[in-house]
Amino acid sequence: MGAARVVLQGGELVDPERRTRARADVAVSGGTIAAIEPNLPTEHGDVAIDVAGSLVTPGLVDMHTHVFIGQDLGVDPDDACLPYGVTTVVDAGSSGGHNFGAFQRSTIERVRTNVRPFLNISSIGTTSILLSGELKTLAYADEDTCASCVGEHGDEIVGIKVRASWDVQGEGSPEPLLRARRVADKVSLPLMVHLGPAPSTTEEILAQLRPGDILTHCCTGFPDNRLAHDGRLRDGILEAQRRGVVFDVGHGMSAFDAEVAASMVSSGFLPDTISTDVHAYSLEGVRDLCTVMSKFLALGVGVDDVIRRVTYSPALAAGLLDSGVGRLRVGGVADIAVLRVVERRTTFVDCSGNMFDGTHGFDPVLTVRDGVVVSDRRGVT
Ligand SMILES: [Zn+2]
Repeated sequence: MGAARVVLQGGELVDPERRTRARADVAVSGGTIAAIEPNLPTEHGDVAIDVAGSLVTPGLVDMHTHVFIGQDLGVDPDDACLPYGVTTVVDAGSSGGHNFGAFQRSTIERVRTNVRPFLNISSIGTTSILLSGELKTLAYADEDTCASCVGEHGDEIVGIKVRASWDVQGEGSPEPLLRARRVADKVSLPLMVHLGPAPSTTEEILAQLRPGDILTHCCTGFPDNRLAHDGRLRDGILEAQRRGVVFDVGHGMSAFDAEVAASMVSSGFLPDTISTDVHAYSLEGVRDLCTVMSKFLALGVGVDDVIRRVTYSPALAAGLLDSGVGRLRVGGVADIAVLRVVERRTTFVDCSGNMFDGTHGFDPVLTVRDGVVVSDRRGVT
């Protein structure tokens, strides 16, 4: 006996891939999407869920998280992500070649959330971040260790991560970035580079990035490396996006500056993916992906533009579209978010303490992961 068919009725379906909206019902059965039709008749034994007044979207994809449970930074994605419509998280280098097995056993194999890792060029992964950076000892950035781990786990690992900034590597050479570049080329996966305080300049990093590679923390307020200021975009940024570099938000503890983000938006530039960089130390400020999405609504970005940046675009960047992540298709994996856009006056605070107001926000209503309703907040106001 299989599980009952679940039918989400009366919602407004947002298709971020085709950039369309339509009222439609969605039936889910056995972990896949069984039907999408304007008026789906329910059959005996179906579980019908009324989602009228809500948006039905692909399960959200958070492009930058730290979910290595048991490691100092790690948060449990089933608690920090799944209740907020997030069905897939990209882990941004919490593990490296020497502790990927621990990440698999503590998290990837055990949680409901779909966890897809970028492997850190440093074999020890991201450190606690409080004491020292994972690249202060350059020997840990071992190309063979990183590449052979990808060789063993190529069906799970979706990219290579490097944090090329002084807080992580100290003063010094671009060597970690170059090593990560070489491994990414060798294993044919995208490279994600974190933008932080110099000495690695934006220009030096962009020179290493190819179409499909990701620059995360793109709204950082570090003066040397901010990508926009005073209503103007830094030179070369638009060109980099046009040639296919993916700009990711990665809000985190210190990487979301409202003035930078507002300057980007007002100059016509939108980050490609909106993500939290949620971890043990950023959780309080970040809260959850819906909150970060709401900040972009407050900055004047449209609802559908925000949704595309937490569904289709990150799934594309992480190479997950073929598995059905980031899109709603009959026969594809039944990962679905139901969200409500509510009118609500909110004062947000960015990582530098600047405040800004929003008039609308995203509320998570329902999360379906692999065909199962794993969070239902219809009663929560
Ligand atoms: Zn991070």
